[in-house]
Amino acid sequence: MEDIRPSVLDDNINNFIDRLSLENETCCLKHGPKEMEIKAPPAVDFLCQHLGFKDDNVATELLRIPICKECAEALLNPEWLLVYCVGCNSSQWIFKPKAYNKVTEGIIWLDECPECKEI
Ligand SMILES: [Zn+2]
Ligand SMILES: [Zn+2]
Repeated sequence: MEDIRPSVLDDNINNFIDRLSLENETCCLKHGPKEMEIKAPPAVDFLCQHLGFKDDNVATELLRIPICKECAEALLNPEWLLVYCVGCNSSQWIFKPKAYNKVTEGIIWLDECPECKEI
C-alpha cells in the first residue's frame, strides 16, 4: 500500500502556493462607504472560514477571503467587529459598541443580510 500521509513539507508548499496566489488579489473586505469606494489595497493574507456544516459536522467548503494588512490588523483589534455575509460576500466593519463587549469573536458570519434580500 502506498503511503499518502501529508507531510509538514506539503503544508509548507501549500502555504507557499497560497502566498503566490495572493499576488494579484486585492482586499475583499469593505473599505469605506459605497459612494466613495476606494481602490482595494493588495491582499497579504486569507481570512478562512469553513462552510457547510451538515449533519455529519464536516465542512464541505472552505471560504477564503483575501484581506489586506489593514484589515488583518483590524481583526486583531478588539474594538472592531467584522460582519461578513456569506450570501452576497458583503462585509461591514462595526466599531464595537459597549453592548457588544461580551462578543469575543472578531467576526460575525451571516448566511444572508438585508442586501441579499434586495436582489
Ligand atoms: Zn482590507
Ligand atoms: Zn448578503
